This record gives sequence, structure tokens and C-alpha cells, in this order.
Amino acid sequence: MDFMDLLLLAKNKQTMKYVGAHVSASGGVENAPINANNIGAKAFALFTKNQKQWFSKALTPESIKAFRDNCEKYGYSPSQILPHDSYLINLGNPVEENLRKSRSAFLDELHRCELLGLDRLNFHPGSHLKKISEEECLTTIAESINIALDKSKGVIAVIENTAGQGTNLGYKFEHLKFIIDRVEDKDRVGVCLDTCHTFASGYDIKSEKGYEETFLEFESIVGFNYLKGMHFNDSKKDISTRVDRHDSLGKGFIGESLFQRIMNDPRFDDIPLILETPDSDLWKEEIKWLYGQIN
Ligand SMILES: [Zn+2]
Ligand SMILES: [Zn+2]
Repeated sequence: MDFMDLLLLAKNKQTMKYVGAHVSASGGVENAPINANNIGAKAFALFTKNQKQWFSKALTPESIKAFRDNCEKYGYSPSQILPHDSYLINLGNPVEENLRKSRSAFLDELHRCELLGLDRLNFHPGSHLKKISEEECLTTIAESINIALDKSKGVIAVIENTAGQGTNLGYKFEHLKFIIDRVEDKDRVGVCLDTCHTFASGYDIKSEKGYEETFLEFESIVGFNYLKGMHFNDSKKDISTRVDRHDSLGKGFIGESLFQRIMNDPRFDDIPLILETPDSDLWKEEIKWLYGQIN
């Protein structure tokens, strides 16, 4: 291998990791890629509507075009973008009326992604609210996904693992598998692992041994072929607390070594790696630091 090959290899190594942050789309979705570019991100997450409201105005053709143009301008392809749905949606809601509302809002979110040319939508699986069993709730979630996929096209439903706070499901790899097993179109279902949630729900991703074991377990239960994104967060709470409090990288109970390992692990190539850390002023630095960890 000559010098040019080595240079190329080093360059490719860099571009295989798509690190970014969940940036603001305030003023219009078209601002998200601009905000991402401003912090040196090679990936980004966004809300395509107000995440705290049930209904939002439809995306205008101007906004859609500007979003697509800006993504092209700054070099963001769909595999570098991970939209997140509204926090109000609960696809496992035990109350019929509320389930109906969640399902239609979820479908609207998928349609928004379609219009923007995006290929995946990240969401929290759902909560049983102490009214139904975990299994019943997970079955309802899978049904909700099937209904939504049936009425949409091209967008992968990306289930995020959770910390297991309150009655939220998705805090075990087995939950993710249970849902995937019941989704009819396996090409359009995936998962997103949030490092804070993984840790708070009880997986030791902090130690080297724990890292190896956790991701071997993930491979055997879910499979890396389903991994469509990651959320990079440190945790303000310790392992197994099942409390979801994000912290800036290296400032919480997880520490820096997890992120150093991931940045050098090809199993996490070619997917959006998204910071949801609380201090947005640090994002630029955190992204730079993450890229600097590649050996
Ligand atoms: Zn997350
Ligand atoms: Zn979280």
C-alpha cells in the first residue's frame, strides 16, 4: 500500500462515522441542515413538527424544497438524518381513543418524512400506563407499526430503546425483538440505541468487558442489521436506575471510554450518531472530540 492509499483509507475511515446532533428546526425544517453544518456535524436529527403538539401545519412545498436543497448543499444524505417523532405519541396506548390519535399522528410523521425524502423515523415504542400487560402493550405497538407501514412507503420505523422510566417499554433488547418479530415488513423496521437509555436500563456499556458483552447480546437478540441510528448521551443517573437524564459526554456516570470504543467500532459505521446532550453550546466541541478519538 502506498502513501496515497493510506491517505484514502484514513479519509474513508473518517467519513464512515456520521456524527451530529439533534438540531433546532425552528423557523422551518430547512434550517436544520444549516444548523447542523454550523457545528461541523456529518449527521443530524430533527423534529419535522412541534414535538409537544398533536397537530401542526402541513409542510409547505417551499419548505420541502429548501430542506432538500440545503441537505444537498451541505452533503447530508438520508442515511445521515434521523428525524424524531412527537413525544405525545404512544403506539401502545391502552385507551382506544388515545391509541387512535397516536396512530394517526404517527402516520402523519411518516408522511412528512416521505415528503422530505427521508428514509427513517425514530420513535419511543410506547407505555402501558399500568392498564395492560407488557406483552399486550408490545403487541399493540407492533400492530400500530404494521398499520402505519401499510399506509406509507419508503420510511423505516426506527424503535428507540428506553431507560424504562415509568411504564415505558423498550428497556430490554428482548422488547425490541418482540416488536420486530411481529412487524410484517422487516425491511422497514429498525432500532436506535440511546447510550444513556441503554446504561440506565441496566446494560454495563461502561467497562470494556460490559461493552463487549452488551453488543454481543444485542447482535444475538436483535442484530446489527437492524441498527439504523444511535443517540450519544452520557447519563446523569447510574446504571440500572431506569431514570432518563442525559448528560454531556464524559460528564456523567458513563464516561468517555464508551464513545471512544464506538468511534473505533465498525459495527457503528454508516448510521447517524446523534448527540442529545443537554448543553447545545458544547455540541461543536463534542463532535470534534468524537472524530478525534478515531485511531
Ligand atoms: Zn434518545
Ligand atoms: Zn432519553
